[in-house]
Order: sequence, then structure tokens, then C-alpha cells
Amino acid sequence: MKNSAIYEPVIMEQLLQVENLSVAFASGKKNLEVVSGLSFSLRRGEVLALVGESGCGKSASCLALTGLLPSPPAFSTADKILFHTGECVENLNKIPARKLRKIRGGKIAYIFQEPAASLNPVIRIGDQIAEVIALHRPEIKDYKAEIISLLSQVGIPSPETRINSYPHELSGGMQQRVMIAMALAGDPDLLIADEPTTALDVTVQAQILDLIDKIRTEREMAVILISHNLGVVSQLADRIIVMYAGIMVESGSTEDILKRPVHPYTKALISAVPELGRKCGRLNTIPGAVPSPGEFPAGCRFSNRCRFAVNGVCAYKRPEEKNISETHSVSCHLFSETGGEEK
Ligand code: SF4
Repeated sequence: MKNSAIYEPVIMEQLLQVENLSVAFASGKKNLEVVSGLSFSLRRGEVLALVGESGCGKSASCLALTGLLPSPPAFSTADKILFHTGECVENLNKIPARKLRKIRGGKIAYIFQEPAASLNPVIRIGDQIAEVIALHRPEIKDYKAEIISLLSQVGIPSPETRINSYPHELSGGMQQRVMIAMALAGDPDLLIADEPTTALDVTVQAQILDLIDKIRTEREMAVILISHNLGVVSQLADRIIVMYAGIMVESGSTEDILKRPVHPYTKALISAVPELGRKCGRLNTIPGAVPSPGEFPAGCRFSNRCRFAVNGVCAYKRPEEKNISETHSVSCHLFSETGGEEK
């Protein structure tokens, strides 16, 4: 876990504020909501992790806030998505698509799970990075020197020759480094990393996480890290939002979530991670499956899997978000604002 003494949110400048973001997909005559009322904020240089099982809405939330979800069938609403560019504050929910495209890939960059699928197989990596520079930083005079510098910053050996490589000539880890170089080419303030290490070997995973940590420190760049793996986010995140079936069930500093989890789902997730769970014995599993959109229980969405569910309440009444400390909040009927468990 990161040293919490390093985390000083008070002195960090606001970068992103998301309020009441919802995402739905049209399916036949129905609209299936996959994200409901997500709100969070992010400061410059901070790493926020969105954690939860597949289908909990982590990726859909980030794709929606950067306008990357195809509409139709997807559509999203939000009270506001304020992005502080340095010169002004843009509401990403309201600006024209052309302006959003300019921010995306520039001030907000994305890397995905499968670098091989994101890179163009028939274009040399240097030319692919050059395209990003041309689009977002046309003021750069010497493209070749800039590309070599970027490849060097992300740890590509012999960048002067690698600039001419095609993606298939690189390993998965090197391809992900190239993706990070492409992301940096637009000089982003925010990097969204969607399961950036899932497709990589364990040793390479650690290297890529170290690299993301290094560049965010050097550049004061914020990161939204999307992962299903609490072990991965514990190495990098300042704060964690735990999502389940499209809603935020718990949020707090990394220490709050990993050392003092309160939501039954967060506790179950932690006990299912080898490096965070108990030292011996079998790993725990969470019985049942995440309900499909359109089949969410009316009350707490975790109620059909929760062993603490209160009869007559949890399945019917949706729990509200409650602050249990300055940094820690939870949505569960078992907890009151005072930080204690309700009797
Ligand atoms: Fe479990 Fe009820 Fe809390 Fe939901 S609200 S997590 S069902 S105890």
C-alpha cells in the first residue's frame, strides 16, 4: 500500500469534478442503466482507482465522461463534468464534440488493456506518436527528437532505432510502453488507464505500474486507474472508489478502503485477493453473480449476495451515501453518519 503520509489532497489543485453521471444503453424498447448517479472529484497529480467486478460500470463511466461511448445505443447524462484545463474550466457534458475531441487525446489521454488492439499494426510506432503530436502539440518543431525523448521516458531501449519498429516487433510490455508514450505525446493532465496491466505477465505488470507512478509524479499528472484487482490498485492509488452494479458503494483513501473497509462487498473483494487476504487457507469467493442491468434489485443492488442483508429493508430500500469520516463514505443500511454500525 502507498504511504498515506505522501497523500496531501489539501494542497492539490482541482482537476475534474463529476456530478451525478448516469449511463444507459438502449436495448429493444428498454433503456438499461449501467451507471447510476456517480459523483467524484480528482485533483491534479492524484491517482483515483475505480474498482469492481466486470460489468460494474467502471469503464462505461470513464468512456462516457470523455464522450467515447457510441451514441446510440449508449447515452449518458450528468449534472456536470468540469475539467480544469489550466486556462479555463470546461463542462465536458456541454461542449461541442469537436472541442471534446481536442481535449481527448490531448489533455485527457487513455490507455487500454490490449495495447496490440489499440496500435495500428501497419504503421511504425514513431509515425503513430507523430500523429498525436501533430494533432495536439503542433508547436513542436523537431518531431523526431520529441518522439525519441518520449520513448526514452517510458523506458524503451534504443529509442533511436525503435522509432522505426512496427508494433508486432515489440513485446506486450513494450507495446504498452508505446501506448503510454502516445498518451504523453499530447502532454495530458489526466491519464485514464483501463486495466493497463491485465493482459501482461506479472513481472511486466509491476514495471508498467512503476512507470505510470514515475510519470505521474514527474508530470503532476492525475490518473484514473480502472481495475478489477485491488492488489494492483493498492500499489498506485491515493483514493479508491468501489463500484457494484453501476453504483458507488464505498469510497475513501487507499488506507480507508484496504485497512478499514466497511461495505460487505468491499470486505468480500479484499478477502478474495491473495496478497491482501489472509496468509493461509483458501481464498474466499463471493457467492452469486452481479445482476444484469435491468434486473437490479429495487433496494441495495448487493442485497441478493449479501450475508448481512436485513430482511424487509435491504432488498427494497436503496441505501443513501453516508460519510463515516472526512475521507470515507459508504452506501449501506448498516452504517450511520456517526461512523458506527447501526444497531
Ligand atoms: Fe448488505 Fe444491506 Fe448493506 Fe446492502 S445495504 S450491503 S444488503 S447490509
